[in-house]
Amino acid sequence: KKILEVKHLSKKFGQTDVLKDIDGTVKSGQVICVIGPSGAGKSTFLRCLNLLEKPTSGEVNFEGTDLTNVDDKHLVNLRERMGMVFQSFNLFPNMTVLENLKLAPVRVKHLSDEEAEKTAMHLLGLVGLKEKAHVYPSSLSGGQQQRVAIARALAMNPEVMLFDEPTSALDPEMVGEVLEVMQKLANEGMTMVVVTHEMGFAKEVADEVWFMADGYILEKGKPEELFDN
Ligand code: ADP
Ligand code: ADP
Repeated sequence: KKILEVKHLSKKFGQTDVLKDIDGTVKSGQVICVIGPSGAGKSTFLRCLNLLEKPTSGEVNFEGTDLTNVDDKHLVNLRERMGMVFQSFNLFPNMTVLENLKLAPVRVKHLSDEEAEKTAMHLLGLVGLKEKAHVYPSSLSGGQQQRVAIARALAMNPEVMLFDEPTSALDPEMVGEVLEVMQKLANEGMTMVVVTHEMGFAKEVADEVWFMADGYILEKGKPEELFDN
C-alpha cells in the first residue's frame, strides 16, 4: 500500500532550483533513507513531504490526498498523521518529559488524561526512558532528549515518521542509542523516511536508499545495490 507519493516535485528558493522534478513512492512499512552531500536538497525534500515547505510545483500524495491542494485546516489534520523528528530536539523546556508526550494527544486528539498517560508511558518504555517521565528535558543528555522527541512524535500515532538528520546534533557517543530506537521502530513496521549521514544505518535498516545530489534523486535502490558500486 502506498503511503506517500511525490510526482514532479520541484522547489525554488528565489531563482534557485533546490528540488528538480522529483518522483518517489513510500510504501507502508518501508524505511527510506535519503542520503547525499550537504546542500543536495534532502532537508527541503523532507519538509515538502508534510508541506512544512510548499513545493513550487508537483504533487505530494499522502494516502491518496494531494497535500499541495488542500486548505490549511485540512492540512493541519493530515500533518498530525505524519510524525517529524528534527536535528534539534525542540522539547518544551518548561514541561516534564511526560507532559511533553501528553500535550498533543490531549489538546489535539482529545484523548483523556489517563489514556494519554498510558500511551506516553508505553512509548517511554519503548525508547528506554520510563524512569525519566517526571524530569525536565534540560536534565537529560542530547541522546535522551532525542529519544523523548521520537516518543513524542509517536504519541500521535502517526502513519509515517519523517526524520531530518536526527543524530547530526549529537555527541558521537549518543548516536548509537538514537539509531537503536529507530531500528526498533523499523523492525516494528513503522513507515519511515530518514535523511541521514549514517551510512551504517542506511545499509542495515533501509529498504531503499535514495541518493540525492544537486536537487535530483540520482539513484534509488536497495542498499546492497547502491553501496556496491
Ligand atoms: P541538505 O539537507 O541536502 O543539506 P537543504 O535542503 O538544506 O540541503 O538545502 C538545499 C539548498 O537549498 C541549499 O543550497 C540551501 O542553502 C537552500 N535552501 C534551503 N532552505 C532555504 C531557504 N529557506 N531559503 C533559501 N534557500 C534555502
Ligand atoms: P540543514 O541543511 O541541516 O537543514 P541549514 O543550515 O541548511 O540546515 O538550514 C537551516 C535553516 O535555514 C532551514 O530552515 C533552511 O530552510 C534555512 N536556510 C538554509 N539555507 C538558506 C538560505 N540560503 N537562505 C535562507 N534560508 C536558508
